[in-house]
Order: sequence, then C-alpha cells, then structure tokens
Amino acid sequence: MADNGSLSEFLAVAVDAAKSAGEIIRKGFHEKKNVEHKGQVDLVTETDKACEDLIFNHLKKYYPEHKFIGEETSAACGTSELTDHPTWIVDPLDGTINFVHGYPFVCVSIGLTIGKVPTVGVVYNPILNELFTGIRGQGAFLNGDPIKASSQSELVKSLLVTEVGSERDKSTVDAATNEINSLLFKVRSLRMNGSLALSLCSIACGRTDLLCMIGFGGPWDVAGGAIIVQEAGGLVFDPSGGDFDIMSQRVAATNAHLKDLFTDALMESGITQQP
Ligand code: MG
Ligand code: MG
Repeated sequence: MADNGSLSEFLAVAVDAAKSAGEIIRKGFHEKKNVEHKGQVDLVTETDKACEDLIFNHLKKYYPEHKFIGEETSAACGTSELTDHPTWIVDPLDGTINFVHGYPFVCVSIGLTIGKVPTVGVVYNPILNELFTGIRGQGAFLNGDPIKASSQSELVKSLLVTEVGSERDKSTVDAATNEINSLLFKVRSLRMNGSLALSLCSIACGRTDLLCMIGFGGPWDVAGGAIIVQEAGGLVFDPSGGDFDIMSQRVAATNAHLKDLFTDALMESGITQQP
C-alpha cells in the first residue's frame, strides 16, 4: 500500500493533468464543436479525445508502471479488467452533452484505485473553476477548503440527484421515469446535472443529499467522485444497499442519517431490480 506522502504526490500529478485538460475544455467550450455520435444519444467530440490523450501522456510520464482505463480508449478498444495494480480511471470530459450545448456542468474526472479501492480522486469543472479533490484518509476539498456531505436526516427535506442515462429503449426509459415518479413523492425535489462525476461531488459538498444512478457509461464516471464523497463523510453503495462495485455501473450515495431511508425508498421505487 502506498504511504500518505506518495498518495499526496499522486494527487498533485492528477491535479496537474486535470488542469491542463481543463484548459482545453475551457477553450473549446465557446467554440463550434465537431460532434460524433457514439450511440443514439451519447456524443463524443475532438475535445474528449484530446483531453484523454493529454491526461494519459501526463500520468504515464510519472507512473509508467501504473495501469490505465479511459472512457475513449475503452470506447475504441473495450474496457480493461480492473486489477489490484494502481490503476488510473479517467473520464476526460464528463458531461459531453452539456459541453456541446454550452451548459456549464462539465468536468475532468480522474480516479486512482489501489487494490481495486478508490484511493485518490480529482474532479475539475474548468468553466465554474471548481476543483474537487480527495485522498483516502486525508479528507475531501473544494478549491483547497474542506467539504462535508449534508447532515440532512429527513427524506422530505432532501434534494435528489439522478440522470436518465443514454439508453432510449422503452423499458429503460420506463424504468428511469417510474423510479423518478416514485421517489418524487418522498423527496423535496430532483436535479439532473448531466455529469455523474459532478453529481457525486454535489453530494460530497452537501449541495444535494441523495444520488442514485443505474446504467451509466463505466467506472470512469464514478472513480474520481466516489473517494471524494467518502472522504467528505458520505456513503457510496449499491442502490440495493450492498457494497459499491466500481465496475458495476450502479451507484448510490448519501449521508449516514439517510442511508436506510433512501435504500427503502429505492427498493419501493423498483429501481434496485434493474440489471
Ligand atoms: Mg466522458
Ligand atoms: Mg462520463
């Protein structure tokens, strides 16, 4: 296991990579984009690919022996298996639809797993200039200031954050909207940021109280945010209430007061039955 000093160094290198990629995103944000379709709804731009190349080259220069899983590399070559090796898991641009529309919820997400455990995380929104960071055992921060998950204990006063995902077959859309229909009667309101990494960070800094998402793109959407939530005193788990599996494309997050109430509500909404 890496010691605290090397974890801080991993974070510093990841922050440098995220800031350089963020510069590319900021420059591209107001320009006309060349958009390709990855799926019916899923988009990819030159910026996604340029940022992934930049981040991987940066990390590889410092840590040639580490493993790498990136969204765009995986789209081209298939997702690599996660091993116990130190592994950098990168979403070079989370919120590509937002990016294309000029909606300012876009970010770079970089997570490092060691022994498959999320250990270092960076989520950087270059448009709003918000840098979220977390290191296992050393806390979570927004632009260098410590952050904490909310202390809300009542569902009815809680703000829920979720996404509708990119699948548009009827059964997936029905499952997502039925879940929302069921949960909306129990919580204060609902937000969709269009970036799961930023939604996790909204839990970490107490802007939102409840997060659930099943069927997102891959581990790169959650690898950076998961450790930030945990280090902010929040909980990250499977929507069924069981252990979080970074490779499962299922995630829920909240604080310790709300976890049981939230998992009961998720169970009643039927969402936990989804694959
Ligand atoms: Mg992406
Ligand atoms: Mg993403």
